[in-house]
Amino acid sequence: MMPECSTVVIFLGPPGAGKGTQAARLSEALGIPAISTGEILRQAAQSGTELGKAVQSVMASGQLVSDDLMNEVVADRLSRRDCRHGCILDGYPRTVSQARFLEALLDRLNLPEPVIFNLNLAPEKIVARLSRRRQCPQCGGIYSIKPYSAPPRCERDGSVLVQRPDDAPATIRQRLEVYRATSEALADFYRTRNYYEISAARTPKHISKELLRLIATRRPAAVAAVRPPLQVSATA
Ligand SMILES: [Zn+2]
Repeated sequence: MMPECSTVVIFLGPPGAGKGTQAARLSEALGIPAISTGEILRQAAQSGTELGKAVQSVMASGQLVSDDLMNEVVADRLSRRDCRHGCILDGYPRTVSQARFLEALLDRLNLPEPVIFNLNLAPEKIVARLSRRRQCPQCGGIYSIKPYSAPPRCERDGSVLVQRPDDAPATIRQRLEVYRATSEALADFYRTRNYYEISAARTPKHISKELLRLIATRRPAAVAAVRPPLQVSATA
């Protein structure tokens, strides 16, 4: 039996549209973890293992890791206990193949069908936003800095914030190209489900209010959905 208030949210949208910010806000409001695949992969890249080194070289080039590797990382994360009432996915799935894997995974984990939010933002606004973005190397906190300000520090632990290599302008444009190449097929895959196009050119507060309203609207249908008995497959 599915927990009464399980929710799975998927954020689609280009880098810089505010997926991470919205994921964090929803995580707090709904009490379920926000899972950023970017963050999971960065942790792997810093781990120094052979797998980590492979992830690191792929990320530094602005390309995306393989579906199989990504699926493996996500399946491991979603199987943990803190995801038993659902989770919020930021950065996954990125391809239809990953979306199909996720569909089977959610079923296997007895989690509901996802609510999908596709955040839209014009490319010039994305480049402007991302080039202001800095991250705390200590806690992973994301900040947007003002131009010409003193070296910004983390509000939580005082660490000097750094620009991620993949937020450099040339890499941003490459990431947008990669995103464009696969995003249409993924949007088409989800369009007939609990799928919403959301304008990201508004304040984070305004946007999250709308997202929570949409989740509340969908929830009864998602909970009431009758599913066939679980079939545990060996696809993971
Ligand atoms: Zn910090």
